[in-house]
Amino acid sequence: MEASPVPNLPEVDTRHWIGGERVGSPATFVDRSPLDGVPLAEISQGGAAEIDAAVSAAQQAFPAWAATSRKERAELLHAIADGVEARLEELAQLETADNGALIRSHRRGVIPRVAHNFRFFADWLLDELDHPDFETRGHRNHVSWDPAGVCALITPWNAPLMLATWKIAPALAAGNTVVLKPAEWTPLTASLFADITAEAGLPPGVFNVVQGLGHEAGAALVAHPGVRRISFTGSVPTARGIAAAAAANLTPLSLELGGKSPLIVFEDADLDLAADLAVEQYDNAGQVCLAGTRLLVHANVVGEFQKRLLDKASRLKQGDPRDPETDIGPQIHPDHFARVDGFVRRAVDGGARVLLGGGPNTDLGGLFYRPTLLTDVAPDAEIVTEEVFGPVLTLQTFGSETEAVALANGTKFGLAAVIVTSDEERAARVSGKLVAGTVWVNCFFVRDLRAPFGGSRQSGIGREGGTWSFDFYCDLKNTVTAPGGLIHG
Ligand code: NAD
Repeated sequence: MEASPVPNLPEVDTRHWIGGERVGSPATFVDRSPLDGVPLAEISQGGAAEIDAAVSAAQQAFPAWAATSRKERAELLHAIADGVEARLEELAQLETADNGALIRSHRRGVIPRVAHNFRFFADWLLDELDHPDFETRGHRNHVSWDPAGVCALITPWNAPLMLATWKIAPALAAGNTVVLKPAEWTPLTASLFADITAEAGLPPGVFNVVQGLGHEAGAALVAHPGVRRISFTGSVPTARGIAAAAAANLTPLSLELGGKSPLIVFEDADLDLAADLAVEQYDNAGQVCLAGTRLLVHANVVGEFQKRLLDKASRLKQGDPRDPETDIGPQIHPDHFARVDGFVRRAVDGGARVLLGGGPNTDLGGLFYRPTLLTDVAPDAEIVTEEVFGPVLTLQTFGSETEAVALANGTKFGLAAVIVTSDEERAARVSGKLVAGTVWVNCFFVRDLRAPFGGSRQSGIGREGGTWSFDFYCDLKNTVTAPGGLIHG
C-alpha cells in the first residue's frame, strides 16, 4: 500500500524520495490519523541503507546545484512556492488528517507560511545577503557565503511541513543539497512536497526525503560522515543523542528545542488582553514549542484575571479539526496523550488544584484532552519545570517585578516569554532581564523571518531567520586581495 486509502485526501506516494526517484524499503510502518485512529498510509521505513543512498544522491547533486547562480536558485524557490500555493487545500487537508491541527489554521496561516518560507529566503538571497567589502592596509576584504554541502534536516510532528520548509528553504537557497527525515507520526506532507519540488524543476538529488523512525533513519542520518550540517527541531532528549553523534564528525548543528515559556501579567495589564493571550496558549491543542504555559500573574489582579480567563476558555470549542468552527483538536498520538495525562495526574496527586479541565474529554473520546488550568503549584514542581506539550497551563502569582523575573527565568528552558503590561519602561526593563530567544509584549506569535529565532539554555543552540540562517547553512569565507588586485606577468 503506497497511496492514502482515505477518501478526499490526495494520493501520496509514501516511499522515500531519493535522487529524484521513489524508492521503497522492505520494512514499512502504519501512519494513523489522530482524529480517529484510522490508518492513513503504509510508509516506507528507511534505515542506514536508505540514508546512505540519499546522502550519496545529495553529494552527487551538490556541485552542479552549488554552481547555479543566486538568480537561478531564487527562481526555483519561487516556483516551489507557486506549487505549494497551487496545492494549498490538498496540503491543508493532508496535514490536518495527519497531525490533527485545525484546518482553519492550515488554510489561513500555516500552509501559506510554507510558501512564504521559500519566497522569503529567495528574496533574501537576491536582495539582502551581502556584506560590504572593507579594506585592511589597502587590501580588499570580501565576505562570501559558500554552500556547505549536504544538510541533514530532522523535524517534529507539531507543524510538520512548516517547520521542515523553514529549514529546507534557506538550505537550498544557500546552494546546499538536503536530506529530510520527517517525524514518523506525520510523514505525509513531506512526501507530497517532494512531488512539488520535482514539478517545480528542482534537479534530482538536490532534495531527498527518507521516511522512517528516529532511532533508525534519524540516527543513521546524523551519524553520516557525508553530512555537512545538521538542523534539528524536536525534544531535548533526542537533541542530546544528535549532538553526541554530531560530535564524532564535528558536524555543525542547529538545535530548536522545547520550552516552558512564561506569560507574565503585571498589575497594570489590560486584563482582557491578558486573558485573550492566555487562551491563545491552548492553540494547536498546546502542542506548540513557544507556548507560554506558565501564567505568572500579579497577586493583586489574579482574581479578576482568572475569572476572565476561565470565562473565555470555557467558550473554546473542542472537536473535529476539519470543522472550521473548532478551536481545539486532538493530541497527536496515544503515547503523547498518555504522557500529557501523566503530567496532569502527577501534578494533581502532588497537590495542584484544577481550575479548568484536568483530564481527557470523555464526551468526545479518542485523543481529545480538555484545556486544563492548574494552580497551587510549587515553583520546582514537575508541572512547572518540564515541557508538557499539551493543553495544560499553570497559574502562579508574584508580588514584585523582581519575583516575576526570578519565576520566569526559573526553568532550564529559554525559548520565549510574553509580557502583558501598560508600562513601556517596565516592558523594556523586564525584557532585558528575561532569558528567552523571543519576548512578546502585549502580543503573541508575531513571527517575522527577518528576525532571529531560537532558544537559550536547553531550548536550543543557534538562531535561524534572515542572514542568521545563511550563516548556519554556509561556510563563510573572507577573500583578501592585495592592493592593485590581480598581478599579471
Ligand atoms: P522528538 O525529539 O521526539 O522527534 C523529533 C524528530 O527527531 C523526529 O523526526 C524523530 O523521528 C527524530 N528522532 C528521534 N530520535 C532520533 C535519533 N536518535 N536520532 C535522530 N533523529 C531522531 O520530538 P517530537 O516529539 O517530534 O517534537 C516535539 C518537541 O519538539 C517538543 O519538545 C517541542 O518543544 C519541540 N519543538 C521545538 C520547536 C522550536 O522551534 N524550538 C518547534 C517545534 C517543536
